[in-house]
Amino acid sequence: MDNYLSNEDILTRLKHLHSTIECGIHSGYPPCCIKFYITQKIWMPEEQNSEYIKKIIKRSNDLGKSFGYIPCPACLESGNDVKVLPCPNNIPCEHGDENAGSYLIRNFMLSQQLLGLKNELHSSPSPDGK
Ligand SMILES: [Zn+2]
Ligand SMILES: [Zn+2]
Repeated sequence: MDNYLSNEDILTRLKHLHSTIECGIHSGYPPCCIKFYITQKIWMPEEQNSEYIKKIIKRSNDLGKSFGYIPCPACLESGNDVKVLPCPNNIPCEHGDENAGSYLIRNFMLSQQLLGLKNELHSSPSPDGK
């Protein structure tokens, strides 16, 4: 288990760490979730990582809403409502899971599914007509 990530995989994650944190902050994610993401989520072995994403999707279906981001376990459980803000100039930052060093296409696709949810939120017209 200790060596499931290659040095290259570890370095890729470390190199993207700062921008991943920045993106979490400007996206309006709760600090607990940003901390969870950078300290645990991106270091999870592939199987654990997929399991967690599946839990988010299941919880989203149960609650009838989308989180639009990766919540920490406490926020996942509470169904914490987070207003996900767009990245600067509405250009999504390129350091999601895939650039943080995803190792399996399956995870990439699950991530895209979650990012798709985020984009859906952004493209829906806002009630105040902005
Ligand atoms: Zn961003
Ligand atoms: Zn949280």
